[in-house]
Amino acid sequence: MLNLGKRSLLKITVSALCVAATTQMVHADEPIPVVATFSILGNMVSEIGGEHVNVTTLVGPDGDAHVYQPTPKDARSVSEAELMFMNGLEFEGWLERLVKAASFDGSLVVATDGIQAIGFDDQNDHDDHDDHKDHDDHKDHNDHDDHADHKDHDDHKDHDDHDDHDDHSGHNHGAFDPHAWHSLTNAVIYIDNITAALAKADPSNAGDYYSNRAKYLSELDALSKDVASMMADIDADKRTVVTPHDAFGYFSVAYDVTFEAPQGLSTESEASAADVARLIEQIREQNISAVFIESISDNRLIEQIANETGASVGGTLYSDALSSSDGPASTYLDMFRHNAKTISDALK
Ligand code: ZN
Repeated sequence: MLNLGKRSLLKITVSALCVAATTQMVHADEPIPVVATFSILGNMVSEIGGEHVNVTTLVGPDGDAHVYQPTPKDARSVSEAELMFMNGLEFEGWLERLVKAASFDGSLVVATDGIQAIGFDDQNDHDDHDDHKDHDDHKDHNDHDDHADHKDHDDHKDHDDHDDHDDHSGHNHGAFDPHAWHSLTNAVIYIDNITAALAKADPSNAGDYYSNRAKYLSELDALSKDVASMMADIDADKRTVVTPHDAFGYFSVAYDVTFEAPQGLSTESEASAADVARLIEQIREQNISAVFIESISDNRLIEQIANETGASVGGTLYSDALSSSDGPASTYLDMFRHNAKTISDALK
């Protein structure tokens, strides 16, 4: 904000005559302070906001948003923010307390608004892949206007009564799989929500936000075609893989790959010995050839499973966070491409 360091004071003294006019102009051009809860979302907001936003990301690269503990610095960023972007679907269980503690009075934007969420109970229903063929038409980004009628999914957020389920307490997961960014169709909805929120908060730069959106969607479209071709020619009996936690449900639906995970939807849950034994048995029976580690997870269990079954470790997937800027997944688009390529290379 106003930095009255030596240089600013000098500038004010030198240009004293036009201080009033300059201040007003500087304020109009000053980037809007915004907060994004985690790195993947932060990158999308930066792509659309460009020079007009100053994005602070709470859970940074390689960070785990499931088990995050906000810091006092986070509270300061939140209290100064005009807009806060969150994933929703109960991904950020720690956010509500932070918003209260920081007395946040800006606009809270839920990036998954309008997404057709995968139910928690659907997680084991992915075996029947026949009905996934009709998801192909979702790759045509021109029909995204259809997503307006998904607004009735907003009521999914009202599932507070799930807190009453004793057996779920401590797992901190909601009724829906929160990892919705692992579908490029959903990414369009994230981008649309981000663009609309920025244009509303800062109408004078709305043209820039919409032109950034158009450019981004064309990159997304090109990526979508590349990924579809990468995932197309994998043998039907090789389409099952293992990851530490259950983060790829949306990728699974989009590309007909089954993901098994010793941990549940959140990294917070611990795999039971019985679950691990069952998974090892399944890997042997189904001849599952690839297991993957995740950048955010404790991977000892995966390494143990690989050792016991002889399955090879197919590489590192970026599930819930980007890599650092010198890594292979420092933007959302690079992350998606890296994951798809890592999976398809391991299965071919
Ligand atoms: Zn996760």
